[in-house]
Amino acid sequence: MKVFKFGGASVNSIDRIKNVGKILDQYKGQKLLVVISAIGKTTNALEKVAEAFYTDKKEEALQLFEQVKQQHLTTAKYLLVTNYIDCENQLKDFFTEVDWLLHDKPVREFDYYYDQVVCVGELLSTCIVSHYLNEAGVKNQWMDVRDIFRTDDNFRDANIDWGYTQNKVTHEVKPVFNSADIILTQGFIGSTDENESTTLGREGSDYTAAIFANMLDAESQTIWKDVEGVMNADPKQFSEAQLISELNYTEAIEMTYYGAQVIHPKTIKPLQNKQIPFYVKCFLDPSLPGTVIGKNPVKNLPPIIVLKDNQAMIQMKSKDFSFVGEKPVGQLYHLFEELNIKPNLTQNGAITFTCVLDDRPEKLEKLALTASDVFDVDVMKGLKLLTIRHYNKEVFEKLTNGKTILLRQQTPETIQVLLQ
Ligand code: ASP
Ligand code: MG
Repeated sequence: MKVFKFGGASVNSIDRIKNVGKILDQYKGQKLLVVISAIGKTTNALEKVAEAFYTDKKEEALQLFEQVKQQHLTTAKYLLVTNYIDCENQLKDFFTEVDWLLHDKPVREFDYYYDQVVCVGELLSTCIVSHYLNEAGVKNQWMDVRDIFRTDDNFRDANIDWGYTQNKVTHEVKPVFNSADIILTQGFIGSTDENESTTLGREGSDYTAAIFANMLDAESQTIWKDVEGVMNADPKQFSEAQLISELNYTEAIEMTYYGAQVIHPKTIKPLQNKQIPFYVKCFLDPSLPGTVIGKNPVKNLPPIIVLKDNQAMIQMKSKDFSFVGEKPVGQLYHLFEELNIKPNLTQNGAITFTCVLDDRPEKLEKLALTASDVFDVDVMKGLKLLTIRHYNKEVFEKLTNGKTILLRQQTPETIQVLLQ
């Protein structure tokens, strides 16, 4: 049994959806659990719907949602003949759920509504792709992952209930393979014990796939992307980026931790825990070898470069010249947890604590405001955080030449600098 995940870019046109069929056809006779994301930029579009709804712009929300509906109906029309009516009916059921909600007035917190609206993207895409594949002879069983993945109600960043979900996977997913070769389902979404939809954080489909791989004891997991595999830098930022054909779990988890976008950071652990080989392959050319991530140490890795834009540096200096010791630092971390802030870099001095964060203005303001009770707070924005693993002098100098370094942290393996 293998687990596959196809991202939004792999289903963002009629041809690409057909291409998913061609790829799956090459695995005929094998058991596959296939996770598919929302089509193209649907998740972003649905975020706009939720925002409009929550800011009392009902008409705008309905109109934006209408566009999402039409795009999906059009895609279904192009792809389907015999299954069109069935598909349309299923799509309309999902539309109705959201339409009902949009006609209400928001009374709960934003994140709750966000999840009820945004989760529909994956339901629509998998519904269309499943009907298309069945019509094209790639027989598959569609499944609503919300019936399997139980989470808490930490909307937009929900946590999996592992015990409950494992039980469902064992008793409700596994037996389906007795009668079907392919199970097709959604990533990124789940549901609470009160049947409210939840999401696992943006780009969370990789993570869903990894949880399935773990719970089904899959022989491997593959994510199909529009790049050749894992590169040593983002090819959109660095034209000389090169393919890394082999990596191990440790290296992969470090890269994603520092912000490499290629894989969702939570994906590695469930695979590592069961030593499941993880492939990153190119859906545009499945004959390319891609990258394999496994347990074996890999030598001679090139420098791995991660550049994060839009960073803010916050400096907190104690007002009364007292040391920034365990207590205030503990309080700060408590505040991070409360605001769900993950600092990208921290540095502690005698009377100052400095941290670097993604610039999310609402969170930064709250943090700065609360911290200003005890500290003098200084915020600097518009910065870049450069991380290089397996750095050498040459690469470091090339990437920092002529730039002002505001902060630097270094171990024998990794160097991080905050650039202006
Ligand atoms: N559709 C979701 C997103 O765009 C989840 C995913 O693609 O992994 O964030
Ligand atoms: Mg995606």
